[in-house]
Amino acid sequence: MRRPIISLFSLVFAAAAFAQTDVTKPPATFADYAVNASTDACTDFHTYACTNWEKLHPIPPDRSGYGTGSAVYDWNRSVLKQILESTAKGGAERNAIDQRVGDYYASCIDEAAIEKRGLAGLKPELDRIDNLKSKKDLPALLAHLHLITGNLAASGNSGAPTAIFGGGSIPDFDNAKMVVAAIDQGGLGLPDRDYYFRDDAKTKAERAGYEALIKKTLTLAGEADAKADADAKTVMSIETALAKSATDIVKRRDPATLNNKYTIAQLQKLTPSFDWNAYLAAIRMPSPDHYLVFSPDFMRNFESMLNTRSLAEWKTYLRWNLLNLSSEDLPKTFREASFEFYGKTLTGRKEMRPRWKVCADAADRDLGEALGRAYVDRAFPPASKERMLKLVKALEQALDEDIASLDWMSDVTKKQAHVKVATILDKIGYPDKWRDYSSLTITRGNALANAFNSSVLNVNYDLAKVGKPTNRNDWGMTPPTVNAYYSSLDNTINFPAGILQPPFFDASADDAVNFGGIGVVIGHELTHGFDDQGRKFDAQGNLRDWWTAEDAKKFEERAKCISDEYGSFVAVDDLRVNGALTLGENTADNGGIRIALRALHNVLKAQGKENEIINGLTPDQRFFLAFAHGWCSTLTPQVVRLQVQSDPHSPSPLRINGTLANMPEFREAFGCKTGQAMVRDPACKVW
Ligand SMILES: [Zn+2]
Repeated sequence: MRRPIISLFSLVFAAAAFAQTDVTKPPATFADYAVNASTDACTDFHTYACTNWEKLHPIPPDRSGYGTGSAVYDWNRSVLKQILESTAKGGAERNAIDQRVGDYYASCIDEAAIEKRGLAGLKPELDRIDNLKSKKDLPALLAHLHLITGNLAASGNSGAPTAIFGGGSIPDFDNAKMVVAAIDQGGLGLPDRDYYFRDDAKTKAERAGYEALIKKTLTLAGEADAKADADAKTVMSIETALAKSATDIVKRRDPATLNNKYTIAQLQKLTPSFDWNAYLAAIRMPSPDHYLVFSPDFMRNFESMLNTRSLAEWKTYLRWNLLNLSSEDLPKTFREASFEFYGKTLTGRKEMRPRWKVCADAADRDLGEALGRAYVDRAFPPASKERMLKLVKALEQALDEDIASLDWMSDVTKKQAHVKVATILDKIGYPDKWRDYSSLTITRGNALANAFNSSVLNVNYDLAKVGKPTNRNDWGMTPPTVNAYYSSLDNTINFPAGILQPPFFDASADDAVNFGGIGVVIGHELTHGFDDQGRKFDAQGNLRDWWTAEDAKKFEERAKCISDEYGSFVAVDDLRVNGALTLGENTADNGGIRIALRALHNVLKAQGKENEIINGLTPDQRFFLAFAHGWCSTLTPQVVRLQVQSDPHSPSPLRINGTLANMPEFREAFGCKTGQAMVRDPACKVW
C-alpha cells in the first residue's frame, strides 16, 4: 500500500484516487447528461444536476466511490491496459522502454508466481532487520528501507507512512531557486495522527481493525499467535508515541510552521543518537546548504524514543512497516488482510480490485513517465495542447482583471499580485523532456524486486535534485493522472493529459461547457497561488510577505467567511467539514469558478455569442451545469469520514453547493430568490 508522492500544495481530486472499473468507452460527454427536473435548482443544485448521473453510476464493489473523475480515470486506465498488455507479450521487437513497462506489468499480474515465491523475496530484507545488532546501525538500515519502499517526498498532509520519518527534495522556502532537502514526520500506518487519539466509537473500531491487521500480517509472516499479539501492541505503542509529537494537518497549512532551517551540525544536535552522516551517505543524498526540518518536535521526540525504546521494539516496528509497505506484491493472504482494513474498514469497499488494475496503477506510480509517454501518444494530440494553452491564457487574463477590479486591495499589493500572475509557468499535458529509465533493471517474473528497484530509482531521482537549481519543468504527477496542481514553490500550474479529457475538456463541446469544466479547474489551480497558503509565497516561490498589513487583514476577514461557511456544513452523520483544513481548497473553488466565468464572458463577448441558446440553455446555465457535472459522485460514508478527517478538499456535493450559493451570477442564471438554500446571504467572496 505504498502511496504515490503527494505534491506539497493542492490537488484537485480526492475521489479520483478511489477509482476503478472496466470500461472501454469514453466517459459520457456533457451532451449525454440530463438534469433531475423534479428538484428545484435553487434548493439543492447538486441533487438537481447530479442525481441522474449518480443513478447511472452506482459505486462498483471494488471501490469506495464513483464520480465523474472516476469515469475519466477508467477511460485512461483502459488506454494504459492496452499499452501494458501489448508490451507484456514480449518479443524482440520491443524497445528498451517497452521491455521495462511490459515486463513490470507481466510480473505484477502473475499471481501464481507471486504465490510460489511466498516471502522468499522479502526474506533478505526481513533478515537485515533481524540482524540489526545495535541502534547505532539504525541509520544505514533506515536509509535502505526508505530506498526500497519508496520514501519520501515532502507531503501536504500529516506525513508519509515510511519507516519513522520521511522527506525528500524541495525548493528552499526562502530561496526557491535552489533545491534543499526536507526531513518530515512519518511512520504512521493510520491516515493521520489524530486517528491514534480520537475517542469516538468509530475511531476506536478503526484502531482495533488496524491492530488486528498488524497481528494478522505478523502471523502470516510466521509468528506464533501470542508473539504476534504482543508485537502488534508494540507497533501500536511506537506509532502512537510517534503520532503524539507529529504536527497536525491544520497547523501544517502554515508554511512558516514547516520552514525550520537546520545545518547538518544543527540536525545532528537535534537528534544526537541518530548519525545523520551515516543515513545521508547510505541514502545517497547530496549535501544541501541546510535542511528543512518540517517538525522539529517530532525529531526531538524521535531522539527520546531512540533512547527509551529497546532495539527489539524498533525491530518489531520496522518488520511490520516493511511488510505493510510491500503487501501489494506479497501472496494473496497478505493482500486480503490489508484489504480487510484499508479497503473495507477504512474506505467501505466491498471487494478487492482486480489484479490488472492494481498493476496498472503500480506501473503508473513506478514507471510513470515511461508509461505516460505511450499514453500521451494515444490520448493527447498536439491540437488539444494548443487549445488548452489558449484556455489557460484566457483564465490568467481574467484573474488579472479580477485583481485589478478588487475594491478591498490596495494598488501596492495589486502590483505585486499582477507580477505573480505574469510569472506563472503553464505546464500542459506532459513534460518537455522525458525521464531516463535506462539504469533501471526490471526482471520478468519478480514483481517485488521490480517494485523495490523502481523505488530505489525514483528516490535517487528525487534526491539527486538536492543542492541543485530548481527545475520548474519537473512534474509531480504522471501524464495519465486525473488531477492537476499548483506549486507555490516554483509558481507553476500543472495539468496532466489525464484530466484533459471529456467531459472536463472536450474539443467537440462549446466554450460555456469547456469553461465550466476544465476552465474551473484551471481557475481553481490559479487561485491556489492566492489562497491562505499560496498568498504567502511571492512570484519567485519564496516565502515572503508581499502584502500590506491592511490588505492582509482584509484577506483574512474574507477567508474567515469561507472557513466559517464550510465549517457549518455536515458531511456525514454528525461530522462537520473542517473549515480551517479545507480553507485553501474552498477558496480555490470559489475563486476558480468566478475567474472561469469572467473568462467565458470575455470570449463570448468577442464572438458576439453572449446570448446564444443551445439545447434551451443560456451560456451561464451550461457553464454552471458543466461545473456541477465535473463533481457528481457517490461516496461510501466511510470514505467521506476519511476525507473529512484527512483531506483538505470538501466532499463533492458541498464543493458544488457551497461554491454556487456564493455566486450572484448563479442566482440570476436559475432565477433563485433570497431565502432559498442556494442563495447565501451575505455571500463569501475573496477572489
Ligand atoms: Zn486544489
